[in-house]
Amino acid sequence: MSADVLVINCGSSSIKYELFDGETLRPLADGLVERVGEEESGFRYQAGERTRTRAAPIPDHDAGMALIADTLTDPEVGRLRDADELFAVGHRVVHGGERFVESTLVTPEVIAAIEEYARFAPLHNPANLVGIRAAQRLFSQAPQVAVFDTAFHQTMPPGAYLYALPYGCYEDHGIRRYGFHGTSHRYLTLEAARVLGRPPDEVRLITCHLGNGCSISAVAGGRCLDTSMGFTPLEGLVMGTRSGDLDPALVPVLAEALGLATDEVIRLLNEESGLLGLSGVSNDMREVERAAAEGNRRAELALEVFCYRVRKYIGAYLAALGGAEAVVFSAGIGENSPEVRRRVCTGLGELGIELDDLANESAQGSVADISVADARVRVLVIATDEERMIAEDTYEIARSVRQASAG
Ligand code: ADP
Repeated sequence: MSADVLVINCGSSSIKYELFDGETLRPLADGLVERVGEEESGFRYQAGERTRTRAAPIPDHDAGMALIADTLTDPEVGRLRDADELFAVGHRVVHGGERFVESTLVTPEVIAAIEEYARFAPLHNPANLVGIRAAQRLFSQAPQVAVFDTAFHQTMPPGAYLYALPYGCYEDHGIRRYGFHGTSHRYLTLEAARVLGRPPDEVRLITCHLGNGCSISAVAGGRCLDTSMGFTPLEGLVMGTRSGDLDPALVPVLAEALGLATDEVIRLLNEESGLLGLSGVSNDMREVERAAAEGNRRAELALEVFCYRVRKYIGAYLAALGGAEAVVFSAGIGENSPEVRRRVCTGLGELGIELDDLANESAQGSVADISVADARVRVLVIATDEERMIAEDTYEIARSVRQASAG
């Protein structure tokens, strides 16, 4: 028996996977199956110097999962002698409803609940379940653990999670704010507390996950108090292709003005808006920044709207928390764009947030403090690692299951 933990993120047309040593949380191998079900699928695997790639049709997720298992047990490039050597499998699951407040061992009841919450996440939960079922077949001796995107946000108080709708919408239909990216916000919370040299239950933090999808959380005492994504990941910040917050009365207005059906309006808000829609250049922040620097007015506007929205939320969350010890920037944009961090933080000196320009420009690696020495609020750049967080939870849960069954 190894201590190896396989982390699976099974999406609608892709499977991301990473193998960790569960004891040390050292990454051992990773890869990707993409364009599942299309004519030309892709497969990548890398374990140190050993790599394998393949471009051939991968008809479905089961075939993709089987290819992952075969490669991990391959005598040449694999890490495991056979499938039974794997210690545990951890699955990213998007929606855990109100039931899952933390990661959990997969049981038939858990599977039924994930199925039930598919009505809240129709694109994601079913794909996550396919990954779980395939892994159960392929690694039948390994405990399977589900780690939910929504779980960390379950500590939000009603004041933050309720929409001001007729109360029956919540009671009868579960319509409320759930939040997403929870595994990332939890990882950033633990890392930030470690960097600040304080226990997580003593710090107030604002964690900004700015990637393709963007969300921001207010965290006090290690618990989430508010987060910007809502019933779906469309609410809150401006994102690569999503609008974030807007007036809901716009939905019929947009339908009428553009001659669209309601579901087409929702697609417009999810896939054609945000940085892409405003700039007309790209959903990729690098391209938007480049175009803005070259004088493209709409790219400049996109950057302005994006950064203003983040700044506004930071202000709101400082009020919600009554102050914070640190603001954390993370994910593709948060970790790599000094320009976005500068625009977001400029003018917040009165609130205790002040960047050190040089530190901001040169921040790299897994952790950097980019605030001036005497700033009241530390500004940190932390590389998020959701897979590592999933591996950690999975190892802990699987270890107690294995101990219980051995004893
Ligand atoms: P995902 O949410 O898919 O995991 P990432 O966290 O990788 O996405 O973030 C992707 C975003 O990060 C893209 O908008 C990309 O342009 C942006 N990004 C990556 N590197 C840089 C950079 N050097 N400067 C600005 N933005 C960057």
